[in-house]
Amino acid sequence: MRDVDVGARAYAEPVKPVRQCSRTACTRAAVATLTYVYADSTAVLGPLAHLAEPHSYDLCVDHAERLTAPRGWEVVRLEPEFVESGPSPDDLSALADAVREAGRAPRRGEPDDVTEVGRRGHLRVLRADRG
Ligand SMILES: [Zn+2]
Repeated sequence: MRDVDVGARAYAEPVKPVRQCSRTACTRAAVATLTYVYADSTAVLGPLAHLAEPHSYDLCVDHAERLTAPRGWEVVRLEPEFVESGPSPDDLSALADAVREAGRAPRRGEPDDVTEVGRRGHLRVLRADRG
């Protein structure tokens, strides 16, 4: 019998809200944030902002690339192109490092006198053998 703990899923897969493109009827994931700087008549297209700000709009790849400035406005692109979110090269090399590390020292930092008795999501339940 497997011990199923439904509550553990919440910890194993943290909720990560996906920001959507703010254009009407567009449901694609946002990759860029467009901010209107009214004082300079400039629309700044930059990386996706962490916080939503007034006069800023999240855009998907398509809408970011097709963006045109209103008459009399200038568009400033802070990044030459936008890519849809996914593992970045940094993430992948970090993952590779972690896998190599795990292969080298699978139980590093763990005392010898404990026994794995169960799992809760990504956590292992250990029992000390001594005593
Ligand atoms: Zn869009």
